[in-house]
Amino acid sequence: MGYLRPDIAAMNGYVPGFQPPDVASWIKLNTNENPYPPSPKVVEAILAELGSDGASLRTYPSASSQILREAAGVLYGFDPSWIIMANGSDEVLNNLIRACAGEGQDVGYVHPSYSYYSTLAEIQGAAVCSYGLTDAFTIEAFPEQYHGKVFFLTTPNSPLGFAFPLEYIEELAQNCGGLLVIDEAYADFADYNALELVKKYDNVVVTRTLSKSYALAGMRLGLAIARPEIIAALDKIRDHYNLDRLAQAACVAALQDQAYFRESCRKIIETREWFTRELTSIGYDVIPSQTNFVFATPPDKNGKRVYTALYEHKILVRLLSDPLLAHGLRISIGTREEMETTLAILKKIG
Ligand SMILES: *Cc1c(COP(=O)(O)O)cnc(C)c1O
Repeated sequence: MGYLRPDIAAMNGYVPGFQPPDVASWIKLNTNENPYPPSPKVVEAILAELGSDGASLRTYPSASSQILREAAGVLYGFDPSWIIMANGSDEVLNNLIRACAGEGQDVGYVHPSYSYYSTLAEIQGAAVCSYGLTDAFTIEAFPEQYHGKVFFLTTPNSPLGFAFPLEYIEELAQNCGGLLVIDEAYADFADYNALELVKKYDNVVVTRTLSKSYALAGMRLGLAIARPEIIAALDKIRDHYNLDRLAQAACVAALQDQAYFRESCRKIIETREWFTRELTSIGYDVIPSQTNFVFATPPDKNGKRVYTALYEHKILVRLLSDPLLAHGLRISIGTREEMETTLAILKKIG
């Protein structure tokens, strides 16, 4: 196929977590979705937007998503000019690379973290460089002055679940010549976040998603918070109608129902802490988590064995392809009942 760019023809696409077609017959703990439904106000808002005959869908949605930026601005304490809404945070991660890294220029990230950064950078023809983690969860051999155009820091980290200390993130911001993109997909489950660094450093961007903590993975909603100059550049390159009408309605309702949101996060954190204690008591090594999942290593350090045994009981967890992580599993936190079932099977299979 001589029509294609050779690098695109040669690249491996990103492989998302498995979504079984008969999803209702599984306990699904492999892609960090929320086990609870979104706020009832989200459902009301979507139905109201749709109307009885769907006539609202004839016309284009708001191109700016301004009402969403205002709702997010109130929630996070920023002027709306510091916020851009995205069709999932994946969209804005992609556009940050497009805005900053030209062909052959460096984009960096931590390995292990979210490997989609690498795919997105490859598509732009950027040069990708990953940095490992030390046993103390610091970045291995990170240069005193990093000259890449964009560096992605997933914190709290996925798949390991720990969060980098704020002072450490701040040092990185000072050492990065380009943008430091702090991917806070899991920050709502953590004890702290890095939003104050956006105000303090002009190269810091924070991204968030409504997929996990707001239970809206199926609506595709994310956002970025950064200086207005960066937001203005991102606005130039995004699809002009990047958020559909129903997603916009859902987003405002979700962000405004903080009571429901906080209760949902509280239940997940409580279950996470209980599950961590239980796993530890049966000999698993569990990294203390600041997210809605745990990375857990069974006593025989054989992630594949436990993955397969759980799979046979229709429980789906994440076994990572990287040999460095094959000793363990990433297990999303489901409802208390789902985790009790999972724990009972883990005890049975030893
Ligand atoms: C889930 C996740 C995303 C993607 O979020 P979407 O808003 O669903 O696109 C981005 N980064 C990390 C680290 C994630 O875990």
